[in-house]
Amino acid sequence: MNAALSPLAAEAVQHLRALLRIDTSNPPGNERLAADYIAGVLRAAGVEATVIETAPGRGNVIARLRGTGAAGALLLYSHLDVVPVERDRWTVDPFAAVVRDGHVYGRGAVDMKGIGAMQLAVFLTLARQQQAGRARFARDLILAATADEETDDNQGMGPLCASHPELLRAEYAWSEFGGYPLPVGGKTFYPIQTGEKGTAWLTLRVSGTPGHASIPRDDNAVVKLARVLDRLDRLRLPLRLTPTARAMLKGLADGLGGAPALALRAVLSGEQAFPSLSDWMLDATELTAELRAITHNTVTPTGLRAGYKTNVVPSEASATLDCRVLPGSSAEELIADLQRGLGEAARGITFTLDSSSPPVEFPADTPMMDVIRRAIQKHDPNGIVIPTMLTGATDAKHVATLGAVCYGFSPLRFAPGESLLSLAHGHDERVSIEGLAWGAQVMYDAVVLALSQA
Ligand SMILES: [Zn+2]
Repeated sequence: MNAALSPLAAEAVQHLRALLRIDTSNPPGNERLAADYIAGVLRAAGVEATVIETAPGRGNVIARLRGTGAAGALLLYSHLDVVPVERDRWTVDPFAAVVRDGHVYGRGAVDMKGIGAMQLAVFLTLARQQQAGRARFARDLILAATADEETDDNQGMGPLCASHPELLRAEYAWSEFGGYPLPVGGKTFYPIQTGEKGTAWLTLRVSGTPGHASIPRDDNAVVKLARVLDRLDRLRLPLRLTPTARAMLKGLADGLGGAPALALRAVLSGEQAFPSLSDWMLDATELTAELRAITHNTVTPTGLRAGYKTNVVPSEASATLDCRVLPGSSAEELIADLQRGLGEAARGITFTLDSSSPPVEFPADTPMMDVIRRAIQKHDPNGIVIPTMLTGATDAKHVATLGAVCYGFSPLRFAPGESLLSLAHGHDERVSIEGLAWGAQVMYDAVVLALSQA
């Protein structure tokens, strides 16, 4: 391992490797072992830690450093569970915390045990400073590592917020995702998540006339479903600019200048068609796709079901649709938009909402966002901090029920050719030790600034 690591970074790497060796693949999760590990580390450092099971084996751990109370608490939270692995696709044991080529390998290295370990190292460093009488904080600092983020029926942060709000209530809360460098058009942006889309998982059903398949008929449910899905794929849902999207587009335009800025400002002033930024910047293909998802409700077909025998025309065919809705919108509004967009083709089809989770959005123009900006610019003076909207979902929706302003701030740097999306949930998930060390320092600086701010 790199001998030049700072004590803070070395501590983060040490706890990351210990956490990676505890298999918390969800299902079943078994986060209790990881929660107990963190509680043990905290207690050894003289910090009281509370371990709570929200369901058998589903462990959560919470600790607090007291401030003067001049300002509201800051909560650093992470999830302890990880998604399962396809072991034979990995080149290393996913639960051995192998160190190779400057990386720590293991399921959860970036999503999100690496961040949790970083939060723990920052928390421990500040606890020791406080115990030595060298630090006085304006806010409480709360650390929480919780169960079951990676499944729909949350048995971690959701029930924990409901049963122990007094342990978790905070003015601000930081977790996944944000604070990674995003190089585009020769500039480096640092998106900070200030909102998340909600989920609306639908079943679309089409009915037709059943019968013997030896005689083709016009009213075939399988063919009708195929036509409807083709229409859905070509449908342009309305552009919706949330405050987060507006601030993000403006930040990108101001930072990029030139033709891309003109195109982005046209969107902001009501131009409906979203431009292809890759027309001007070769490295903007992913960003363009992401911005389109951030400015529209989306529909992605992910499954088909029809028929049970080759010579029988079924009476019904259905598709599962993964839809994501923006803050300010809803599943009902999305379904109405789909029906309107399909026009005549919507006749006789039904949409059923199978499950949903709410979108969330938080103000981006807070003193805390300035704190984050200052911490990042200390390490990258030319870095441009912009808000962003996560197209997926995290535990922020649960933490937000207690009134916290939730930001995705989990600074990390990736090795060339690597990105969060290529690593999280992927084979050979790994984190660059240099990148983790950078992130731990940025997070430490941001927390120190936040705790000194009344
Ligand atoms: Zn995660």
